[in-house]
Amino acid sequence: MITDALVIGAGTAGLTAGIRLAQGGLRVTVVATGEGCLPLASGTIDVLGYAPDPVQSPLDALPGFLDANPEHPYRLAGGAGLEQSVAWLLQVAAPLGYEGELTRNRWLPTVLGGLRPTALLPRGMAAADLSGGGEVLIAGIRGFRDFHPALVAENLCQAAGAPARAILARATELDWPGSSGDLVPFRLARRLEDVEIRRSLAAQLRTKIGSAAAVGMPAVLGRERAADVHADLERQLGVPVFEIPGLPPSLPGLRLLDCLRRALRGAGGRLLLGSSAISAAREHDAVTSVTVTQARRTVEVSAGFYVLAAGGFVTGGIVREPDGQLREPVFGLPVHGLAPGQEPFGDEYLAEHPLDRVGLSTDAEGRPLGATGGPHAVNLYAAGAVLAGALPWREKSGEGVSLATGWHAAEAILSGRREDAA
Ligand SMILES: Cc1cc2nc3c(=O)[nH]c(=O)nc-3n(C[C@H](O)[C@H](O)[C@H](O)COP(=O)(O)OP(=O)(O)OC[C@H]3O[C@@H](n4cnc5c(N)ncnc54)[C@H](O)[C@@H]3O)c2cc1C
Repeated sequence: MITDALVIGAGTAGLTAGIRLAQGGLRVTVVATGEGCLPLASGTIDVLGYAPDPVQSPLDALPGFLDANPEHPYRLAGGAGLEQSVAWLLQVAAPLGYEGELTRNRWLPTVLGGLRPTALLPRGMAAADLSGGGEVLIAGIRGFRDFHPALVAENLCQAAGAPARAILARATELDWPGSSGDLVPFRLARRLEDVEIRRSLAAQLRTKIGSAAAVGMPAVLGRERAADVHADLERQLGVPVFEIPGLPPSLPGLRLLDCLRRALRGAGGRLLLGSSAISAAREHDAVTSVTVTQARRTVEVSAGFYVLAAGGFVTGGIVREPDGQLREPVFGLPVHGLAPGQEPFGDEYLAEHPLDRVGLSTDAEGRPLGATGGPHAVNLYAAGAVLAGALPWREKSGEGVSLATGWHAAEAILSGRREDAA
């Protein structure tokens, strides 16, 4: 199989790179073993929440953050690239009403009643920014075990560590008008697309809103028709409604994944799910092909450019062998971040561990470094959680890093082609 660009991985980084490259006129093939982290994540784009203190403006905090963390993947895109990638994502995710800016973090409730910072969020969470404080009603569904409104409300009233004014949160539980078999995220989401179900929930809620300025609900408000479900509930209640993401599977993450996949196909790109890259061939200083398994078939894919966006440990982009060796399994690239003999884990479970930052190092273009210290190949780029140097959980930067570096890899390829053509 021949294509202009082969992207390995269909999470945020791979899809971003794939869409951009297809928009830039390349024939793009994206291969992926599975769905990546989006179905597990909240669906928000967290750019920089802690550095290590709470960040108000990711853009303003970035220069100081990069001075303190010179190996961080954000150095690739820099502030300007980050801004461009965010502006682009807001356009691509417009069907889901994504909003936000890099100069102001919003503080959203978690399913445990904490507050977490994020930069971009879908329309269904717009009213969830509680940094201004105020009164909210947290409404659960009786029997739905992934969401406990009393816990959320009680903890929100005491939420600390975020620049929030006083929050007054009350809790209520709604009787589910369907069957008890519906009380799992996917089924709830589908059933909430039924107008009668919504009418029943809204009727119960109206009697409980009181002086609450908004209503928070578990993030199960529809799948394909989430925008209609959300708008209809707001219309029936007369106050803003917001979703609070909880345990996987995450409907907001899946909606964003659907949206990015549609954008890839709309731009002419091809997505081959259930297809794993297993090895690569290189001649001189360029990758010439990648071997991909699809079901029982093995296919050689030859491309002009390759983007490795296979994620970190969660998805097998980086592997730790039983003997402790770290491996990048497709190209055999060296994994950086752990000195020889260094213990991968610290003593405290919740502290930072040396293993947290490991991944691939790249040159300024985003090309991963090989064994000799220079780029492994002139036509191979890397993006997302496979890269070394970030602490997504601590920094609250997971999706932001994947967006910015996926964007950067595509821009590096496109600008190289423009220069060659000039
Ligand atoms: C439970 C959980 C919750 C999270 N919550 C948040 C959050 O709320 N906010 C936030 O900003 N970030 C969050 N993150 C982090 C964020 O989701 C990830 O950092 C980000 O999505 C990574 O995107 P990626 O594209 O780099 O990699 P991934 O999403 O991991 O995608 C990797 C892709 O590569 C594929 N792949 C791997 N190996 C191969 C191979 N050999 N051949 C073909 N395909 C391959 C995988 O199947 C997958 O498609 C969360 C992560 C997890 C695990």
